[in-house]
Amino acid sequence: MRNVFGLLALASLMLVQQTVKAQSASNYDPHDAFAPLFYPAYGDDIRTAAGVPGPKYWQNSADYKIDASLDAETHGITGTVTITYKNNSPIDLPFVWLQVDQNIYNLKSRGVAITDLSGGRWANRDAFDGGYSLESVQILNPATGAATKADYLVSDTRMKLKIAYKFILPQYGTDRCGRLETKNGWIYEVAQWYPRMCVFDNVLGWNTLPYLGQGEFYLEYGNIEYNVNVPSEMIVGGSGELLNPAEVLTPTQLKRYNEAKASEKTVVIRSESEVTDPASRPQGKRLTWRFKCTNTRDVAWAASKAFVWDGARMNIVGRPAPAMAQSLYPVESVGDSAWGRATQYVKGALEFYSKYLYPFSYPSATNVAGIVGGMEYPGIVFCGYRARSRGLWGVTSHEFGHNWFPMIVGSNERKYSWMDEGFNTFINGVADSAFNNGEYFRPIKSRVRMAKPYFDGANPMLTIPDQEPSREWGVLSYSKPGSGLELLREEVLGKQRFDYAFRYYVHAWAFKHPTPYDFFHAIENGSGETLDWFWRGWVFNNWKIDQAVTGVEYVGGDPSKGANITIENKEKLPMPVTVEVKEENGSTNRMQLPVEIWEKGGTWKFHFPSTGKITQVTIDPDQRLPDTDPSNNTFKP
Ligand SMILES: [Zn+2]
Repeated sequence: MRNVFGLLALASLMLVQQTVKAQSASNYDPHDAFAPLFYPAYGDDIRTAAGVPGPKYWQNSADYKIDASLDAETHGITGTVTITYKNNSPIDLPFVWLQVDQNIYNLKSRGVAITDLSGGRWANRDAFDGGYSLESVQILNPATGAATKADYLVSDTRMKLKIAYKFILPQYGTDRCGRLETKNGWIYEVAQWYPRMCVFDNVLGWNTLPYLGQGEFYLEYGNIEYNVNVPSEMIVGGSGELLNPAEVLTPTQLKRYNEAKASEKTVVIRSESEVTDPASRPQGKRLTWRFKCTNTRDVAWAASKAFVWDGARMNIVGRPAPAMAQSLYPVESVGDSAWGRATQYVKGALEFYSKYLYPFSYPSATNVAGIVGGMEYPGIVFCGYRARSRGLWGVTSHEFGHNWFPMIVGSNERKYSWMDEGFNTFINGVADSAFNNGEYFRPIKSRVRMAKPYFDGANPMLTIPDQEPSREWGVLSYSKPGSGLELLREEVLGKQRFDYAFRYYVHAWAFKHPTPYDFFHAIENGSGETLDWFWRGWVFNNWKIDQAVTGVEYVGGDPSKGANITIENKEKLPMPVTVEVKEENGSTNRMQLPVEIWEKGGTWKFHFPSTGKITQVTIDPDQRLPDTDPSNNTFKP
């Protein structure tokens, strides 16, 4: 026994010397990756460990009634808003906080103060000095309707209690609102246009992070009725349902509008040639467009006399009433390779996301061409008027994808952009492959080239958006979290388990406020898999991936008896493994190994039943992982 053992050991030592490459240092520590404690607290009956809201979950609500009018001479908006705020929390609130985001356009705002010298996408331009003028703030007694003057204080973009207001709409509104001058008149894209309640929750109490530009919004749900008074030659599109089409459209337009609601094909409601024809609008000075949007966190609208308008019916799985896709754009954007297809893009995207995740919840979806490059609001999006073809499909699908993140699943965008931009980027990829037989789909050939942008930046994904350097914004908020979900779906859990778990999250938190931990719990419960190692590496830290093949030893030195293959995990983030083995006799085989092989250390040896001499062993042969050093992925014995 002893001698035999000694001889075998000697034989394999010689083989190792022949076939094992010099090993480089490893950064991997299995105790970092698989540390048993991950969640900072146990689940409770408000936010459960199952990843769903518990029996004591509560959420406050805010209903708004707004009357606003647009002055086309001054570009000013004057409004009054009545907010009915319902405190469902177990504690009394001696004060409330509101977001007054429009104040970012005041030259004294923090948003202006933190804009660096290069300006950038969120910068206030041309020294525009805007923001709200608050004419009056009153508290209404809900029982008697009696009004008393409110004691209030404004601090930058936030306000302590309630409101008649006005402001001038900036031309460049942090790429989220603004106005564009076209051949046939201004296009107004109006958002952040009324004071809105901050979210009060059991996580932070009042969520009062200020609006600085890059971080988006965190808002309560409620029902919003709003009336927009504009010059009669203008057409208005807005979030929710248009309540009075007969009062604001010509009889011809009304007929086409109703035809569009029932038509699979796009129906033109106001044509290119009608834009300059005064008869295409009702006569008279001004008109009030009335809208209602229910169970929503926000509303936005657009108005212009320059709009071409078309629409079509959407077939939303799980939605009892029909819904309508619409597009509003200037003559500059007309054309089959441009906005002429915009309504079909809206229809294609929304029908897909409804089937994949959760039914689209509003009666209409409007795509507006204007100065804003791409920005989402419930049931209405603003996309760049110059966008065409694949670019227009992409921005339309992306902005309407936001109707699921964060409009339906109401996460905190101001803190966690990866939970809306990133999750949305992921579903956009799935939609690309489905729309019109993959017309615009570009499959990912290799993720290796993503390693550098993903890992070489200094920041982890879990960074507050306003803290992210603009050069890392695209990676940290969009592509890295999007790829993270792809990796979980394609490499870790498989499509079926991932999709089930992702839907479990969406349905549990629809119209509610999940935190990152609620998301992690939901995916782990729904997929039946502990994923703390992945959240640690991909979300909390900027851990790299580097898998390598480092050795091949034939059993007893005989290739026909099988081979023991050595692989290594050299960087901090472990992942499951795919290995491809090619033999001289022409056979090619693959083996899948679970992530648990890395629990005890960064080197793993496994048996491969080779029948002949191995010519090549490749780890991650399809380059599905953003591996930082692909040079060690292939081993030729
Ligand atoms: Zn987005």
